[in-house]
Amino acid sequence: MSAESPIVIAIDGPAGAGKSTLARLLARDLDYTYIDTGAMYRAVGLFATQRGIGLDDGPALAGLVEGLSFAFPWIEGELHTIVDDEDVSTAIRTPEGAMNASTVSKVPEVRSALVARQRRMGAAGGVVMEGRDIGTVVFPEAELKVFLTASARMRGKRRLGQMQGRGQEGDLETIIGEIKARDLQDSTREHSPLRPADDSVLVDTSQLPIERVRNILLRLARGRIDPDSA
Ligand code: C5P
Repeated sequence: MSAESPIVIAIDGPAGAGKSTLARLLARDLDYTYIDTGAMYRAVGLFATQRGIGLDDGPALAGLVEGLSFAFPWIEGELHTIVDDEDVSTAIRTPEGAMNASTVSKVPEVRSALVARQRRMGAAGGVVMEGRDIGTVVFPEAELKVFLTASARMRGKRRLGQMQGRGQEGDLETIIGEIKARDLQDSTREHSPLRPADDSVLVDTSQLPIERVRNILLRLARGRIDPDSA
């Protein structure tokens, strides 16, 4: 790609590795669009539960996804998830919502429908897309692929901090147990299991302050956007 062309940046990794924080910062630093694919799987899990659709019912889930519209607007400095004109930003951020998302994400019909949407959303470049399979499946040709990871304990502490920030309560050991259960389900599933792309940059954020990782990613991104600047 020529110098200064908008690129696709794929940020993958397990829950709580810092993907959302870093992907948002990177998108803001570069003036790129941020796309949270996990929110899409969470919304499908939420709507399926509300409408009484089985979380393993492929044809019914495919019909559900077909009719859903997704938007991620910034409202007063906060990123919101709007699905079918309903603001589900808070409703999708529960431990149950996370596990339901992980369950529907195993269903091939759900994956293929959401992957097709995600490809359309990123087709013009200029996006930072966050998820589990962005570098391996959605955009295997992404110019920059990052795989963020961290110890389960550190990820659990971060998740607890986020929940407390939203006024929710939680127990660290329970959260670590949930994270490990979700890691196992995400990395052992048959379709698009969580794994780093062969050409991804691996960053362990356990011991690194967020600003340090932000700078590393920004330098990498600038080098890929304009190779002459690196
Ligand atoms: O990133 P987040 O925790 O919001 O993702 C919720 C769940 O959605 C993950 O545990 C994973 O099972 C699923 N997911 C996925 N592929 C993506 C993004 C999320 O399978 N690209």
